[in-house]
Amino acid sequence: MKQYFAFQWHITDDCDQRCKHCYIFAKNNCKQLDSMSWAQMQAVVDNCEDFCEMYDRLPYFYITGGDPILHPDFWPLLELLAIKRIQFTIMGNPFHLTDEVCQRMKLLGCEKYQLSIDGLEQTHDWFRKPGSFQTTLEKIAMINRAGIRSVVMTTPLAFGSTPISVMPSWPRFSCTV
Ligand code: SF4
Repeated sequence: MKQYFAFQWHITDDCDQRCKHCYIFAKNNCKQLDSMSWAQMQAVVDNCEDFCEMYDRLPYFYITGGDPILHPDFWPLLELLAIKRIQFTIMGNPFHLTDEVCQRMKLLGCEKYQLSIDGLEQTHDWFRKPGSFQTTLEKIAMINRAGIRSVVMTTPLAFGSTPISVMPSWPRFSCTV
């Protein structure tokens, strides 16, 4: 079995949140939301396949943004990966997930969906946006129901953070710090 070569791929700046640490929106850097065109995305997939063929690896994509689901060609991209049997993880937000969306992602081969929780509710919502914590917990259950592995990433904060030692223990998904 060949080893994987993983590509983390930012396809759009578009996002419902404005997190305090976000490089996209820092210091009003983002004058205009940018997204890759469909032609660029197809070229990226081809280039990554060529690279992996040269180094005898299997491509694996971590698709992110922004919130990648907001890209107008999000579904065509997942369909392209499904046709090519390329495995992938989505690194996104909870806000546009429904049972139907999660099931559709699962059918197209989504292995994992990564979200963020940055402390208990007050800290997380201050850092990301009001209501984000509860929505994230609800959507983790939805992701799991569809048979996709949910992964939670935590950004340790120098100010206002919840120590990792008092973070809740969630046995049904893994936690990356
Ligand atoms: S969810 Fe991600 S892309 Fe959106 S503002 Fe937060 S860090 Fe930035």
